[in-house]
This record gives sequence, C-alpha cells and structure tokens, in this order.
Amino acid sequence: LIELRDVNKYYGRLHVLQDIDLTVGRGEVVVVIGPSGSGKSTLCRTINRLESVDSGTVTIDGKPLPEEGRELARLRADVGMVFQSFNLFAHRTVLANVSLAPVKVRGRGREEADRRSRELLERVGLLAHADKYPAQLSGGQQQRVAIARALAMEPKALLFDEPTSALDPEMINEVLEVMQQLARDGMTMVVVTHEMGFARSAANRVVFMADGRIVEDRPPEDFFTAPSSERARDFLSKIL
Ligand code: ATP
Ligand code: MG
Repeated sequence: LIELRDVNKYYGRLHVLQDIDLTVGRGEVVVVIGPSGSGKSTLCRTINRLESVDSGTVTIDGKPLPEEGRELARLRADVGMVFQSFNLFAHRTVLANVSLAPVKVRGRGREEADRRSRELLERVGLLAHADKYPAQLSGGQQQRVAIARALAMEPKALLFDEPTSALDPEMINEVLEVMQQLARDGMTMVVVTHEMGFARSAANRVVFMADGRIVEDRPPEDFFTAPSSERARDFLSKIL
C-alpha cells in the first residue's frame, strides 16, 4: 500500500533521510523507533507529503504522490496523520471536529457526516462528550478525538507521530487501546512511538532508524530478543 524506494532528503547539508526503502502492506502495522533526530518524523511526513523528497519515489497504492491541489487533498484524506499535539479546532465542538473534513473534503452531507462521527466517537469511547469543546477534555480524550477525526475520512492508512508522548502516564493506555483495536480491525498503520509494549503486541514489523537510515526492519519478536545492530542494542539498553 505504502512504498518508499531509495528516498533521500536533505535539510540544507543535513542528509536527513538516506536511501530509505520501506514497504507497508495493506493491514500491516509498522512501528518506527530510533534516537531523537534520526529522521522518524521526517519519514512519516514524507508519506503524506507534508515534506517533499529530493530523490526516490513514494507511492500509495502504486500511484506517485501528487504535488498539489485537489489530488494532494485527497491523498491527505487517504493517508491520515495523528500528531503528538492533537491539533483540534479549539472553537468547535468534538462532534464538529470529527465531521468537518468529511463534509468539506469528501463532500458528505452534514447529517450523514454527523451520524458517522457519532459512531466513531462511540468507537473511541467519547460519544458522551460529543457536544463539549476540546479544552473541556483531558489530553487522552483529545487524542482519541483526533483519532476519530482521522478515521472520519475513511483513510486507507494512518500515520501516528508519537501520539502518546504529550500525555500524562495514566492517559497513555486509553489511547494505545484505541490504536490496538484499529490494528486488530486491519487498519494499515505507521506508528512512531517509544511504547515498546505497543510495538511488541501490535506491530508486524519494527523499523529502527539511526542517522537517517533504516538500520533494522524486522518482526518485533526478532528485534527485541536479538537486535542485529550495535546501534539498536545500544538504543534498547537505554529505553528498556
Ligand atoms: P525526535 O525523536 O526528536 O522526534 P525524529 O527522529 O523525529 O526525532 P526528525 O524530526 O525527523 O527526527 O528530524 C531529523 C533531523 O532533521 C533532526 O536533526 C532535525 O533537527 C532536522 N530537522 C527536522 N525538521 C527540520 C526542518 N524543517 N528544517 C531543518 N532541519 C530539520
Ligand atoms: Mg519526531
């Protein structure tokens, strides 16, 4: 579904993505880990073209990423992204946050979009909060709204960039549980996270990045029991 071939990207002199090859099949969950500054966020952002690449190709469903305009909006709808900071619209209700884009981008009718949004809010356990504003919710609840909002676009894949790192510890699990359920339901997901429990239980593969390169790309049971690179061993010894 998602394919990166020989992708390179620079920020000025910094070679932030180096010869990246990555394939994510339909229904696969790939967890991306690695030290700070290794290029994890940049990798995520190239997949829905929040960042351009300098060489190589990124394709979704076999089609190269569109450069701009309506096609790009459609891509962003097909490949949703959930950020560390939830980026909800502060002046709109929870329900409106979820149903806004389906109406604007997908051209859904208002009533249909609201009905579907309520279903999604129920799925993330927040139907009772539909008429509140984001500031009235906890961080974990806001992040679940952000996930419902991404799902409202009926994406083919979802990208998560450290979705729980801004949360207080007691709220992390409620967000991870929603993500686990998505994984079980067959959603294609690329997840940058330091939650190794999630990686072990939900990921089909763990991608370990260092200095802009993919150093390892293996099933979690292999990766965690016997990382093959010194870099990965060193990293794991620091976080586990
Ligand atoms: P973290 O774990 O801290 O989130 P990361 O693995 O997500 O790190 P990136 O955010 O992808 O790393 O950044 C990779 C490198 O690119 C870093 O050295 C960063 O400083 C640099 N970088 C990121 N965004 C930009 C930008 N817009 N302009 C210039 N340099 C950037
Ligand atoms: Mg990052």
